[in-house]
Amino acid sequence: MGPLLYLRLIGYTLGTLIQLFWMVVILGYRRQRNFERVFFFLCVAFFLFYGGSLLALNSQIHYAQPPAGVEAFAIVIISAGLCMSPALLLHLHMEYAETRGLLQVKAWKRGVLALFYLAGLHLVLHRIPLLLKEAHFNFIAPGSFLGQGFAILLVISLAWCAGWERRFATTAPDRAQRYFHWMLLVFFVMALLSAGMLHLAQLPISTQTSDELASAFSLLPIVPFTVLIDLVYRRNFLQIGRQKNLLYAVSATFLALLYLSLVRRLGLWLEPLLPPEASASILLFVLVIFIEPLQRVLGRSLKEAAQLEMDRVQKLMAKIQQEARQGNMARLVSFIERRTKEQFELREVRLDLADGENVRKANSSSEEPKAALAFDPHEFRILREGKNEGVLHAEPHGATISGETRAALEFLCEQLLGALDLCRLIEEKLRLERELAERERLALVGQMAASISHNLKNPLGSMKTILQVQLENPELPESIRAETKMVLEEIGRLLAKLNQLLQFSRPALRLGNGTALCDAAAVIEEVATVLSHEAARRGLKLNAAISGGSARVAITAEALNDIVSNLVVNALEATPRGGHVRVNVVREDGKLCVVVEDDGSGIPSELREKILQPFFTTKSQGTGLGLAIVARRVAEFGGKVDWESPVKNGHGTRFKVTLPEEETRKQ
Ligand code: ADP
Ligand code: MG
Repeated sequence: MGPLLYLRLIGYTLGTLIQLFWMVVILGYRRQRNFERVFFFLCVAFFLFYGGSLLALNSQIHYAQPPAGVEAFAIVIISAGLCMSPALLLHLHMEYAETRGLLQVKAWKRGVLALFYLAGLHLVLHRIPLLLKEAHFNFIAPGSFLGQGFAILLVISLAWCAGWERRFATTAPDRAQRYFHWMLLVFFVMALLSAGMLHLAQLPISTQTSDELASAFSLLPIVPFTVLIDLVYRRNFLQIGRQKNLLYAVSATFLALLYLSLVRRLGLWLEPLLPPEASASILLFVLVIFIEPLQRVLGRSLKEAAQLEMDRVQKLMAKIQQEARQGNMARLVSFIERRTKEQFELREVRLDLADGENVRKANSSSEEPKAALAFDPHEFRILREGKNEGVLHAEPHGATISGETRAALEFLCEQLLGALDLCRLIEEKLRLERELAERERLALVGQMAASISHNLKNPLGSMKTILQVQLENPELPESIRAETKMVLEEIGRLLAKLNQLLQFSRPALRLGNGTALCDAAAVIEEVATVLSHEAARRGLKLNAAISGGSARVAITAEALNDIVSNLVVNALEATPRGGHVRVNVVREDGKLCVVVEDDGSGIPSELREKILQPFFTTKSQGTGLGLAIVARRVAEFGGKVDWESPVKNGHGTRFKVTLPEEETRKQ
């Protein structure tokens, strides 16, 4: 048995396994494009060729006269694989050209491919029956038995593919892909030359040389398929995803098959000394000696691979920790998603944190037995003492996430909890600091307002009283009376402003035990009475309609008074003479609401965002504090403000304050 035979044995085994590897990878690929499908069938064709050749070779080695059935089977699958490969090769190139945007006219693609496939099928149907009848099939150069038709088909296809490769190489997006296509170009040119020499030119070469050439030719395709594995593994070319474990499995199977052949060979040689069974069992047990060192070597390389992934996780974690220190949870989550996706070359990564709503959902669903069954292999849970804190969804490019990546992602999830906690703590600390600063600022404003109003209110009050007494003097000249009235009005306005400033700066006072209760109807009636003079002065109708007796709400009377009076004052100020302002207490969805409605000019939509801000006003005499006070009081007692404007015919505004209710506050 010459070296050529060993070479072929090794080559065919490797070829068969690589095709198997590719078939498994593509079958596992979830989003198959046409390209992957054609690639799959090309792999099937090559698998038939290599598998058949391996079968024939093994039966030649082991039997003096190989069984006819085995030979016939090998002939059929080798020829079928060979006949279809020119069409599939060309089809694959055209599909790839299409994904790269290099193929514009699709009509001729279909025509050419139909021609090639039909020719291939014709060969399968007409040649194979003839071959089965023939006595001497040459398994070394099976292509030469398929006739001139096949040779022409193959040569055209190879030449065409070489042309495509040149175009792919010149338009490749990066260096690795450029090299790959140049290599394929060289490969196709070599294949073209060997095919030409073997099948077309009847060269005067010896059988020995022609066998060598044919063997080399048949083993040539292994090279690009192997390089492609490397490219896919290292650069995620074609986005097929990395399957390192599968690669180990293929290599191990390859070595095991070779060793088995070696055992059989040696068994035959040793036959004069030992029965083949005995030598086979000895040889198989010899392996035991190697297991320990093999384990050490394999263990080390496996550990290295695992270590590499773990190092990546550590590096990623360092960056995540850094980001966590910024104290912005939303940003941290999107940072983790983006970096994990890049680091592990995944298609999509989503991190769902179980807080607020989600905690309840996640925890309640984990109690259901159904949730345990619906285990998603792409979900990685972040657990704290067995409780779900969040889920990392990782979508691979292929159908599954490889073992190393899975282990790394699990490790990552274990570490993420710390970073998330850190971020949450810092976020909380920043929030408290901001709140404290805001409170300090407001307290300062409040102190200032209190001292100003204290210092101004008393003298203003005295001035008001003196002027009111003066007005009652019947001897006061008319001109001075008019001026005095004007001054009194100004003083009234000043006092109102000082009052608002005080309301704004002072938080609502609560009763000692924290419960606050009042009757909304009574408060509204009081406000309406106080402001009815102002309404009359402006020539407006102020209606306070309270239906259904008392309405108990969980808010202090003073706070509700602040709310209603500010809303009614705004409504009065917005409504032209002769208009209406209505105050109602209504029950909506079981909750009590105070509604203040006017038929004034309405609030322009561009001001919607601004009107609640303190000091925002559109009035020359306004303070801009009215609605800020409303918003503040409502927030202090856990209520809600909504408004609608215009209400009808482009006029009017309706403010609705949903009040906290007695029962809900008690819970
Ligand atoms: P001020 O009344 O001092 O201007 P507010 O905070 O009470 O401050 O109101 C802010 C702004 O919101 C007002 O200047 C006005 O433009 C608008 N606004 C409030 N209530 C009404 C209303 N009922 N109709 C029209 N505009 C209103
Ligand atoms: Mg106001």
